[in-house]
Amino acid sequence: MSFDELGLQAELLRAIDAQGYTRPTPIQAQAIPVVLQGRDVLAGAQTGTGKTAAFTLPVLQLLSGRERRGKAPRALVLTPTRELAAQVGESVVTYGEHLALRSTVIFGGVGINPQKDALRRGVDVLVATPGRLLDHAGQGTIDLSAVEILVLDEADRMLDMGFIHDIRKVLKLLPRQRQNLLFSATYSDDIKRLADGLLHQPALIEVARRNTAAQTVTQHVYRADKDLKRDLLIYLIDEGNWFQVLVFTRTKHGANRLAEQLNRAGIGAAAIHGNKSQGARTKALAGFKDGSLRVLVATDIAARGLDIDKLPHVVNYELPNVAEDYVHRIGRTGRAGESGAAISLVGQDEVKLLKGIQRLIKRDIEVLPVPDFVPKVLAPPPPKPAKQPAGGRNKGKRGSGKPPGRQGQARGNAAADTAKAPTRRRRRPAKPASGNAR
Ligand code: AMP
Repeated sequence: MSFDELGLQAELLRAIDAQGYTRPTPIQAQAIPVVLQGRDVLAGAQTGTGKTAAFTLPVLQLLSGRERRGKAPRALVLTPTRELAAQVGESVVTYGEHLALRSTVIFGGVGINPQKDALRRGVDVLVATPGRLLDHAGQGTIDLSAVEILVLDEADRMLDMGFIHDIRKVLKLLPRQRQNLLFSATYSDDIKRLADGLLHQPALIEVARRNTAAQTVTQHVYRADKDLKRDLLIYLIDEGNWFQVLVFTRTKHGANRLAEQLNRAGIGAAAIHGNKSQGARTKALAGFKDGSLRVLVATDIAARGLDIDKLPHVVNYELPNVAEDYVHRIGRTGRAGESGAAISLVGQDEVKLLKGIQRLIKRDIEVLPVPDFVPKVLAPPPPKPAKQPAGGRNKGKRGSGKPPGRQGQARGNAAADTAKAPTRRRRRPAKPASGNAR
C-alpha cells in the first residue's frame, strides 16, 4: 500500500514525501479513504500510530476542495492538552504546506489576544483545547456555526480530564449537519456513550489492539524501594549512556524534585506538568527534542500525546495507579517501528499495581536484578538568591542556603548518599561536567 493509492491529492503527497514517509501506517491506510468519503469515523488508535496524519490529511483535502464562504473555522480539532494541540497544529501546517488553507491553535495559559486576532483574520482549521475554546465562545470571539468537520482527538483522555461538560457545550455551538471523527486509545462506557450520541453510522477502525504494548518495546522491571530509586536511575542513565529519557512520576512535586536531583547529578533534566507555565513547558519540550536536555520528568497528563520521534527510553519512576496509563506511558517509546526500552522501578508498595498491569497486558514483565553500584555523590543544591527570605517557598524545609546536612536530606525519598559525605560534596562544582550540553 502506498499513499498514492489512498486518493490523496498531489499537494498532500508532496508534503508527505517531504516528511520522508514511504508507506501509510495502518490507521492511515484505513481512515484516509473513509474520511475522504465524508463518513463519520470511530477509531481506536494510540499516539505513535500516525493517527494525526490519518485525520489531518483527508480533512485538509476535503476543505481545500470546498468553497470557503466566510472567515469562520470549517474544521475543529479538539485535544485534551496544550502540547497535543500544538503538535496537531504543527502537523496541519506541515501537511498543508502546499494548500491555501489557514489554521490556528488556541489553548489556555497563553495570551488570548493573538488568538482573537488570528480568528478575526480567518481560519479554516482550528485546533483547540476545550476550556479556552469556550472562553472565546463566551467572549463572542469565535463563530463555530460553519464547522463542517469535528475531530475529537484522544477523546478518552479528554473524558479522563473531566472535559465531558465542556465538550457537550462545544457540540451545542456546532451545526447539526457535519462530519465527526472520534479518536480514542480505549473504549470505556463513557466513550461509547459519547460516540453513540455523536457519530452517524461510523466506520469502525481499530489498529494496534487495545492495551497491547508495541511489540518493539522491551519492558523490564527493577525492584527498588523509594530510597534506592533515585540512585538507581542516575546509575542506569549514566552507565547506559541514555541520552533521551522520559521519566514518569506520579506527582508534580515528585517531578520537580527528581528533575532537580538529576541536575545535581550532572544529568540535564526538566520537569513538565500542569503547574508549569506554558513557556516553561514549551522550552522543556524543545530542549528535550533537540537533545540539549537528557531527561524530561513528566506526570501522566502532561506527557499525554507528546510526540517525540524515536524516544529510546521511558522510565516509570513510579507505577501509575491506573494500569492503562502504563500502556500509554510506554507508548512514547518504540514508535513507528523503532525499538525502545521501558523500565519500571517498582517498590514493595507497588507490587499490586504491577500485577494489575501484567494482567492488563496479558504477560509478565521480566524482573532484572538490581546491579551493584556505588551511588553518585550529588552536587549541593544551587545557592538561593540573596533576596529570597529564609524559609523560601520551595526549599524552606532544608534550611536557608546551607548545604543540607544529615537531617535536611532525610526527608522524602532523597537517598542517604548526599548525607554520607557532606564535606567531600562541598568541594564539587555546583554543576558537574557531564557528557551532554545543558
Ligand atoms: P502520531 O500517532 O500522529 O502522534 O504520529 C506518530 C509519529 O509517526 C509522528 O512522529 C509522525 O511524524 C510519524 N508518522 C506519521 N505517519 C507516518 C508514516 N506514514 N510513516 C512514518 N512515520 C509516520
